[in-house]
Amino acid sequence: MAKKSAAKEKKYVYKFGGGKAEGKAEMKNLLGGKGANLAEMANLGIPVPAGFTITTEMCTVYYKMNRKYPKELNVQIHEGMKHIEKVMGDKFGDEDNPLLVSVRSGARISMPGMMDTVLNLGLNDKTVLGLVCQSGNERFAWDAYRRFVQMYGDVVLGLKPVKKTDIDPFEEIMDELKKEAGVKLDVELGVDELKELVKRFKAAIKERKGIDFPEDPWEQLWGAIEAVFGSWNGERAIKYRSINKIPHDWGTAVNVQSMVYGNMGDDSGTGVAFTRNPATGEKKFYGEYLINAQGEDVVAGIRTPQPINTSTKSSKEQQTLEEVMPRPYQTLESIYKKLEEHYTDMQDIEFTIQKGKLWMLQTRTGKRTAAAALKIACDMVAEKLIDEENAVMRISPDQLDQLLHPMFDPKAEKEVIAKGLPASPGAATGQAVFHADDAEHWAGEGKKVILVRIETSPEDIGGMNAAQGILTARGGMTSHAAVVARGMGKCCVAGCGAVNINYKEKQFEVNGTIIKEGDWISLDGGTGELMKGLVPTIKPELSGNFGKIMRWADKIRKLGVRTNADTPHDSQVARDFGAEGIGLCRTEHMFFEGDRIKSVREMILADSLEGRIKALHKLLPMQKGDFIGIFKAMKGLPVTIRLLDPPLHEFLPHEPAQMQEMATEMGVGVEKIKQKVSSLHELNPMLGHRGCRLGIIYPEITEMQARAIMEAACELKKQGVNVKPEIMVPLVGDVKELKNQEEIIRQVAEETKKKLKVKVNYLVGTMIEIPRASLTADKIAEVAEFFSFGTNDLTQMALGLSRDDAGKFLPAYVEMGIYKADPFQVLDQEGVGQLVEMGVKRGRSTRKDLKVGICGEHGGEPSSVEFCHRVGLNYVSCSPYRVPIARLSAAQAVIREKREKVA
Ligand code: PEP
Ligand code: MG
Repeated sequence: MAKKSAAKEKKYVYKFGGGKAEGKAEMKNLLGGKGANLAEMANLGIPVPAGFTITTEMCTVYYKMNRKYPKELNVQIHEGMKHIEKVMGDKFGDEDNPLLVSVRSGARISMPGMMDTVLNLGLNDKTVLGLVCQSGNERFAWDAYRRFVQMYGDVVLGLKPVKKTDIDPFEEIMDELKKEAGVKLDVELGVDELKELVKRFKAAIKERKGIDFPEDPWEQLWGAIEAVFGSWNGERAIKYRSINKIPHDWGTAVNVQSMVYGNMGDDSGTGVAFTRNPATGEKKFYGEYLINAQGEDVVAGIRTPQPINTSTKSSKEQQTLEEVMPRPYQTLESIYKKLEEHYTDMQDIEFTIQKGKLWMLQTRTGKRTAAAALKIACDMVAEKLIDEENAVMRISPDQLDQLLHPMFDPKAEKEVIAKGLPASPGAATGQAVFHADDAEHWAGEGKKVILVRIETSPEDIGGMNAAQGILTARGGMTSHAAVVARGMGKCCVAGCGAVNINYKEKQFEVNGTIIKEGDWISLDGGTGELMKGLVPTIKPELSGNFGKIMRWADKIRKLGVRTNADTPHDSQVARDFGAEGIGLCRTEHMFFEGDRIKSVREMILADSLEGRIKALHKLLPMQKGDFIGIFKAMKGLPVTIRLLDPPLHEFLPHEPAQMQEMATEMGVGVEKIKQKVSSLHELNPMLGHRGCRLGIIYPEITEMQARAIMEAACELKKQGVNVKPEIMVPLVGDVKELKNQEEIIRQVAEETKKKLKVKVNYLVGTMIEIPRASLTADKIAEVAEFFSFGTNDLTQMALGLSRDDAGKFLPAYVEMGIYKADPFQVLDQEGVGQLVEMGVKRGRSTRKDLKVGICGEHGGEPSSVEFCHRVGLNYVSCSPYRVPIARLSAAQAVIREKREKVA
């Protein structure tokens, strides 16, 4: 009868040990990572101390029932304890042969140190004597008891420091006793003193908490289970989940497991190991251990752990486990091989040897550096452990980023003085300079500099290029500094609000520290950290494994990957990283170099059409030269060139001294310059006279640019160089705008082809970066031969957020969870994503073969790339250094989609 009703009951307890288990590795959601892997090891016949896991579901039920348990749990836990007793041959609460257990948390995803643990549970004034007999070591037994009372008193009974400045009450008692005994270290305390400690600990609990320390092991057990479930909703666990985006309703499992001891004498020990080297990926068993010690001693760093085997030994004095305990070592070797083969991945394992017998306490997928990840994945394919698809899935795209940029020497010391936005990855160290021309000057003298600006503008390009890294006080992830730095593959920390820059004094102040021109500073573009002083960097090597993974990714992916590049040099870098074309060439960047800015300014100042045409005429050969360089670098791959986009005022100086300089150079009065600057002034330039609106009002600009592109293409074609120009009109919101520009472009193109007597195929298309363009994409596609989503502007306009100013409050928005992530960095799939999806669908409803890409900053962000694959884009385009990340992400998107379909 009892059995029948038990069959209907919900199962909350899963047993493991003795060569079998009720759970398995796939049950992580229910059993937590630790519980599922313990079960899996038991099923593999690997020696794990017997135990049971109370499910994560129980945790959720516990909270739903207002911190109470369903009836059936009690029975199931009793059965679980009976199972442990049977396998281990001890008895819970027995005075001669006591079973002692650990009670640990274990969520789906490891949350290191965030939840509670109780060890040595089951000890009391009587069972401690049993442990003395069992271990034959009185000191060990009493030490275990005092540790238990201390841990239980803290975790379950809540005797902890009240204020931050308080000393831990148990430590205080221990220090007192050590003083009385005249000893310095815990290990110098003898049996009598340990007995005294237990007494004093219990008395303190009684006095301060008004609770008698529970002698009943069952009461202890329930108390510990409750504490672990309770710690799921502890302050630090909640905070950790919020930061790491772990859902609060997952709950934690509780693992109750027989204790084994590595501190029972010189035939005992404990250690941690990786099945391959986690730093290099080398196929070598690698780990550390301590004789006669508990797990926490290995981590605490009081004693120096020894290498586990001879092959990783670095000096003669070291005593390896292989030498000291050859039998358990051999068992450990066969187990690690079995585990790696079974999980087909590098494992991070924990073990304990109790009186010569090896026990495995944990196995999990080991964390590794990017270089190790590549090597392990490639080696495992060669070993036929995994296939190419799995290898591609093993590399995290973000991690790949580490490999492409210089990084700080992990051994170097760092003094972080502020934190900004991690705008462009990499590590940079150099002397602070505050003006772009100084950066160029200093760099010209062979110095390493960091350009520090409140924000950057197109005029600063030269200085940015000369600098090792860029630091700005203002601006977000799509600010000028961020976008340009990413394009250059240069480290940038943007929007570092704590930095107060004084251009006049050539210095900045940050949290009380003054940094003057010439002082050394360092930037970590991956974390946003600003450091004082010179922090040495190292250049990571791109090994053959990188190329191998990339080739496999290329075979799998469906999305094309292009690059955003404006110079032949950047185009070449991107090609070396595997770019299959240029998805965005921003022509305005070409207007700043050398003498060009003069002609641009001349055009802007001109009062008549003739004047403008004259100035544009001077620009034409220079632009044409640029396009020739880019077309050549891209060797027949498609090149999307965007017509002029920014408002014209960006090309004019705004400081009085610079205005005067320009006036002298142009031979006009300074008043004229001032007047022009003021007439071009707009309150909201991002929504002002920019994009195609420039070419519509000043068609001669479009004409000149179309001519430069087509003359470059035709001349090269004549020389036998293959070219595929795609001319792109920015900021279109109405098809009539595009039609207007398209007519100019086509007319110039046909004229040029005729004049140069050569056939060149070209496309005319548009950016989709205004919400109205997405909504009317069917009409726009009747004219446009391709679309490229400019998701920087599209995000700005869809969310009503300024690209340049939102950095002030965006980090707070993300921290408060209002936005999941910075929408300028990670595509807002729920909102902006709809505009993209709609644009693709409507566009292809009128032009079936419409080619669609994306060229906003999201084109190199992994989750956004996956989105682009799902909604059927043809390609993504991103800055050169992100090309490999996009290639990998695009392949992972295909694999994930396939796996979801199968599931
Ligand atoms: C965009 O708006 O997404 C884009 C690529 O153009 P820009 O960043 O130059 O405005
Ligand atoms: Mg734009």
